[in-house]
Amino acid sequence: MTETLRNAISGLTRRNTLKLGLAGSVAAAGSSLFTPAAKAAGTERSLDAEAAIERAQAMQPGWHRVTLGDARITMILDGERAGDGPYPTFGADQSQERMAELMRANFLPEMRYVNGFTPTLIELDDNLILVDTGFGENGRADGRGRLVERMAAAGYGPDDVTIVALTHFHGDHIQGLMTVGQPTFPNARYVAGQKEWEWWTSEEAKAGERAGNAKLVEQLVVPLKDKMTLLADGDTAATGMTAMEAFGHTPGHMIFEVTSGGQRLWMTGDTANHFVASLQKPEWNVAFDQDNAMAAQTRKRVFDRIASDRIPFIGYHMPFPAIGYAERLEGGGYRFLPETYQLAVSGEM
Ligand SMILES: [Zn+2]
Repeated sequence: MTETLRNAISGLTRRNTLKLGLAGSVAAAGSSLFTPAAKAAGTERSLDAEAAIERAQAMQPGWHRVTLGDARITMILDGERAGDGPYPTFGADQSQERMAELMRANFLPEMRYVNGFTPTLIELDDNLILVDTGFGENGRADGRGRLVERMAAAGYGPDDVTIVALTHFHGDHIQGLMTVGQPTFPNARYVAGQKEWEWWTSEEAKAGERAGNAKLVEQLVVPLKDKMTLLADGDTAATGMTAMEAFGHTPGHMIFEVTSGGQRLWMTGDTANHFVASLQKPEWNVAFDQDNAMAAQTRKRVFDRIASDRIPFIGYHMPFPAIGYAERLEGGGYRFLPETYQLAVSGEM
């Protein structure tokens, strides 16, 4: 668990306050350090002095980097939000006591929780791919929307991004697309789900109970249509990155498989929204899911594969740095195991 999250949780139980202080300024790198992964030297994965220094540098607040084959993957914490829950946002179809028991068993507060938002940058082939974009300027007043600032600390400028991949069109994933009405990542093309596009631009969505989100899509996503490729299950999002359907959270929610050097990793977006409530109890309702039954079915299907095939995954709302594995539990469900050094050293596991 990150220092920020740990402090936030202990602070919450003490003070029962909502404010998540995001103290400490991050020094922005003046110029971009981005070089395509293919051109970067040294893909051997022993933890030598240079790798040890890079790993230590990567342990800065707000960003975290791992290597997968020749790909460099950097998770960026756009921000966090503390609030009441997880019940009934999670588990509204269960009793409050059952959720309290589950939280107690996992050493978590029963009535308060912290949600994190983690866009990810992937240097793969000659691309720099950004998966999801955080809150952008709309989140700044609440200490979120820190993607671009923390990208700079990690050595990337907005101009370096060549592809923006969107798992889905909820506000916490698309608001970083634009800054004062202009594209935040001016050199990027975009990829997203065909079904996702169709739903949020439909009259039904614009008139329905999620009309506010449809409005955001109209303002932030629709203007980028000329540079956007719409994907179906199995389509290539970029060289080395394949889109897979994971419908339910939203009608066109997509996840991505990244492969490099014979290794693979899944970007699961919002397939699971809480590292305990959604993974240990994948069938429990989640208020963020548009279709509860379909979302639960998708959760079980996706994490069953991840557990069976021992695939590392990055989940947008997993505790920062949001990367880990899923261990199958007896009696159903999965336990989130944070990645520690598995990707930094070679060897079977
Ligand atoms: Zn989300």
